[in-house]
Amino acid sequence: MKIFKLVSILLLLSLFACDYFDDSQSEEGKKIITNQQIRESHSYANIEEVFTKHLHLDMEVDFDNNSIYAVARHTMINKGSDTAVFDIKGLEIQKVTLGEKDHEINTNFVIGMEDSILGAPLSVKIDKNSTLINIYYKTTEGSEALDWLKPEMTKGKKFPYLYTQGQAILTRTWIPSQDRPSNRITYSADVKVPEGMIALMSAKNPTKKSKDGLYHFEMNQPIPVYLIALAVGNLEYRKIGKNCGVYSEPEMIRQVAWEFKDLRKMIVAAEGIYGKYQWEQYDVIVLPYSFPFGGMENPRLTFANPTLLAGDRSLISVIAHELAHSWSGNLVTNATWDDFWLNEGFTVYFENRIMQSLYGKDIADILALIEFQELKAEVKEISDGDHPEDTYLKLSLDGRNPDDGMTSVAYVKGAFFLKTLEEKVGREKFDVFVKGYFKKFQFQTLTTEIFEKYLEDNLLKPNKIKFNTKAWLYGKGIPKNCIKIVSPRFVAMQKMADNFNAGKDIFKIKVKKRRRKIDLKRDMYVTQEWLAFIRRLPRNISIDKLKLLDKKLDFKGWGNAEIATEWYILGVEAGYEDIRPNMEKFLKKVGRRKFLLPIYKTLANRPTDLKWAKDVYAESRANYHAVSQNTIDEILKFNLKPAKV
Ligand SMILES: [Zn+2]
Repeated sequence: MKIFKLVSILLLLSLFACDYFDDSQSEEGKKIITNQQIRESHSYANIEEVFTKHLHLDMEVDFDNNSIYAVARHTMINKGSDTAVFDIKGLEIQKVTLGEKDHEINTNFVIGMEDSILGAPLSVKIDKNSTLINIYYKTTEGSEALDWLKPEMTKGKKFPYLYTQGQAILTRTWIPSQDRPSNRITYSADVKVPEGMIALMSAKNPTKKSKDGLYHFEMNQPIPVYLIALAVGNLEYRKIGKNCGVYSEPEMIRQVAWEFKDLRKMIVAAEGIYGKYQWEQYDVIVLPYSFPFGGMENPRLTFANPTLLAGDRSLISVIAHELAHSWSGNLVTNATWDDFWLNEGFTVYFENRIMQSLYGKDIADILALIEFQELKAEVKEISDGDHPEDTYLKLSLDGRNPDDGMTSVAYVKGAFFLKTLEEKVGREKFDVFVKGYFKKFQFQTLTTEIFEKYLEDNLLKPNKIKFNTKAWLYGKGIPKNCIKIVSPRFVAMQKMADNFNAGKDIFKIKVKKRRRKIDLKRDMYVTQEWLAFIRRLPRNISIDKLKLLDKKLDFKGWGNAEIATEWYILGVEAGYEDIRPNMEKFLKKVGRRKFLLPIYKTLANRPTDLKWAKDVYAESRANYHAVSQNTIDEILKFNLKPAKV
């Protein structure tokens, strides 16, 4: 996933939900519950005893009632347990049966006490030989993974739209499942949607609409359940190259195909670095604006945010990131959410290598430096907060929402750890090591501790290298030996910002071969260079100077969400009112948390802006996915429901 800057304030009640028992249940049922123990801090599933091997979903998507009616048919490996425990949240369980379809027998089940973050354990009575468990259920308004959009919120405005977001622990809100990344499963699905619409999953996908609205899916490689995904809408497919293409609403498919034209080249570049792409097909779907992330690496089908459509291919690194997840994250997966950096740190590192291979070291270094600025700011913020230990790569999120670990520590500190290692041992040896790592752990999950040992045995010891691995993994902040990236282009932009602030004319540029100066234009620099420029400007810069920049370069009218966000933040801090109408429009349209979070945070920090922020949020909240709503609710202390006890 490509996100940064997540607030971490969610409270968690007791984890112990299993003591609860409804008195109306039988004595036998009671035994089921008390025997059950919690094995992992973010799941109730007892996968050590009985675990899903294959999941088949029979689903009907009902846009009239905003609900999915479904049967989750779990094929289990049972080591002799009399209970199978699944995670559920916001689901209405109708019945549970055992056995083959059409030969099913009802069985007892008990739902434990609901926890506000984890949901509840669904304990199903089985016998020692049971391997097929069928859970009949429907989703509800509390199914937070699901984003149901009315036609007005789509580009075409004719059809409704639905997409899911499973990571980290939201799959349990639309599929009763053993929602732990350490269990990998294959899945298949039969999905019925209204005629005229198309369903897509993180599986082998159709490229055309069916006549009857029925679609069949197969995912034959084992994946953790957080990677099961569904999108339903009026969608069209456009092939980009061999084994890759894009989906979007027909109204934007040309634009999408243009922006992601380099998709095939990216796959070739990635394979050139770390070996064969293992998932056969790689497609990208561009979703509506409410999608809370830049991208989500659902296997075979990356979900992407329309804010990536900058019109100049300058935000393509997010696609490089999601593609890189086809190795780190999807092929080799964090065993728990405390090891999240194994997914994201490797991915940011690999993303940067893909960008370097396609667009050169200059661009890759600017990207890395922009991210490093964000890391430094966030490390400071976390260090001053309630959980300074969140700056460790290995996290301890017991009793907290795993989303709390989605900070730039996992992403950027993780990547800089690997960059520093690479610098120490040399790229050649490092690449052999990483390639070997992906091969050794492919289609498996691992913890930070297993990685640490693998690193020691396969890279450090053989090369007789001493490295402060423990300080990086289990220590706070950014270790002193962190690699320093030098980018003349980045420095030049900062210099330009300083010159501008000092009152110099930066809008006429000398060009070596020409006698006359030429006008400064936006397209002379990439997005990240402009970010470096804006970030360098002092927060108390004069309004006249901001007006002048807008007059010459029109930052406030630029449809680039990265620039817009940076500009709005500076504008709010400097008291520059001209940005207000554009910012309001932006907040009402875009649901990507990476942008919403810093803007709302900046507004919330200023008493005079807090009311304005709340008013805008009240009108925009329905346009955001639950993931973004939860974060912004906390920042603005908005409409907080009392936690369930
Ligand atoms: Zn990611």
